[in-house]
Amino acid sequence: MINVENLHKTFGELEVLKDISTTIDAGEVVTIVGPSGSGKSTFLRCMNQLEEPTKGKILVDGADITDPSTNINEVRENIGMVFQHFHLFPHLSVLNNLTYAPINVKGVAKKDAEELAHKLLKQVGLADKANEYPNRLSGGQKQRVAIARALAMEPKAMLFDEPTSALDPEMVKEVLQVMKSLTETGMTMAVVTHEMNFAREVADRVLFLDEGKLVEDAPPSEFFTAPKTERAKDFLDKML
Ligand code: ADP
Ligand code: MG
Repeated sequence: MINVENLHKTFGELEVLKDISTTIDAGEVVTIVGPSGSGKSTFLRCMNQLEEPTKGKILVDGADITDPSTNINEVRENIGMVFQHFHLFPHLSVLNNLTYAPINVKGVAKKDAEELAHKLLKQVGLADKANEYPNRLSGGQKQRVAIARALAMEPKAMLFDEPTSALDPEMVKEVLQVMKSLTETGMTMAVVTHEMNFAREVADRVLFLDEGKLVEDAPPSEFFTAPKTERAKDFLDKML
């Protein structure tokens, strides 16, 4: 589904991503872990062209998103993104947060968009919040709305950038539970997270980034029990 080949990203003099290559298969769940500043967010943002790679190639479902002739809006429609700080539309109800892009970007009929939105709100446990406004929701509820909103575009893959890092501890679980149930639908997912238990239990593979390099790319059973590098060992010592 997502093919990354020799990806480099620099900001001015700063080389943030150094020759990253990996593949995320359809239906696979990959977690991206590593120290703060190691390039995790930049890597994720390159996957839907929120950042433009400096060098290298990224293919999403066969389309080269680094090729200037590729319609990047179409690519973005197919890749849902969930951020640490929700980014809901504050002036729209929960229902309209979910239907806005399907109606206005994809041209879905209002009735169909609303039907799907209600289904997704039920899926994330918020069927009763359709007419609520974001500022009346808890952080965990906001993030579940953000996930449902991304799903409302019926994406082929979902990217999550530290979706639980801004939440009070008691709300982390409800969001991880929603993400876990999403993995069971066969969704292709890339998740930047510090939740090591989630990575261990839910991921098919763990990517460990350090100083812009993809240092380890292994199933959790290997990464957590027998990391190959000192850098991963140090990281895990601090995290676990
Ligand atoms: P992580 O998500 O792993 O914490 P980031 O991808 O956010 O790491 O950042 C990696 C490095 O790139 C950091 O040194 C950060 O300061 C730098 N960086 C990120 N975005 C920009 C930007 N837009 N301009 C300049 N430097 C940036
Ligand atoms: Mg980050």
